[in-house]
Amino acid sequence: MVKLFFLGLGGWASNPFMNHTSVLLVSECSRVLIDVGECTYSSLRMCTPYDVKDLDYVVITHRHGDHILGLPTILQHARRLGTKVRVVGLNDVYDAIKELLRSVGIPNYSSIVEFTVVDSRGKLWLDRIALTTVSASHPIPALMFRFDVDGICIAYSGDSSPNQDFVDLIRGCDVLIHEASFEDEFRDEALRHGHSTVGDAVRIAEEAGVRRLVFIHRDLNPLTLRSTSVPIVLVHRCDVLEITRIL
Ligand SMILES: [Zn+2]
Repeated sequence: MVKLFFLGLGGWASNPFMNHTSVLLVSECSRVLIDVGECTYSSLRMCTPYDVKDLDYVVITHRHGDHILGLPTILQHARRLGTKVRVVGLNDVYDAIKELLRSVGIPNYSSIVEFTVVDSRGKLWLDRIALTTVSASHPIPALMFRFDVDGICIAYSGDSSPNQDFVDLIRGCDVLIHEASFEDEFRDEALRHGHSTVGDAVRIAEEAGVRRLVFIHRDLNPLTLRSTSVPIVLVHRCDVLEITRIL
């Protein structure tokens, strides 16, 4: 079984009750934190039974602030607990982390980070979890993820406008967590900023034939849903989704 703890569901300028983008994937073998928006540490403690020492990996899609600004606080607690933090991401994410730690006055904390570079079209094993990546359609380098563990597949878009490589990567996955930064009437703006609408996320879920769709990276507005053949799971901050293998 895999559990997904939704620590944050909002984008950078979002409803504060949603918190910023972060999901904790818990399998029998490992715990993987996916993206680290602001206040991820408080959500980790509020929404899960885990602390920083329980994180096996932190996997980051890209260096925009709503995906990495929670990391300095995670590292503060790692230092308190005497543990290292294994971080996975693009090379420029590593550069951004070092720059961020310098900027906030804790440059030596980069020694707490054990960084592994993964690139687009990469494949990496996080213990028994296979992580496969493709490049996102976003203004800065960014990745989209597929996680496979114990016969269960989780897809995570990060930030991207609709992306065919991602659709091809995630066919038949058990859960798709897809960004839905804009409502459909603002699609031009979404595409201009390298983002997707609610309708885009639904179309991608339908085309990829995933079993369930979860929206993430929402904005200030309530979600407007349209009918679709794909079951949609509406989650709030701190919700937990349990996924068992369908035989
Ligand atoms: Zn972004």
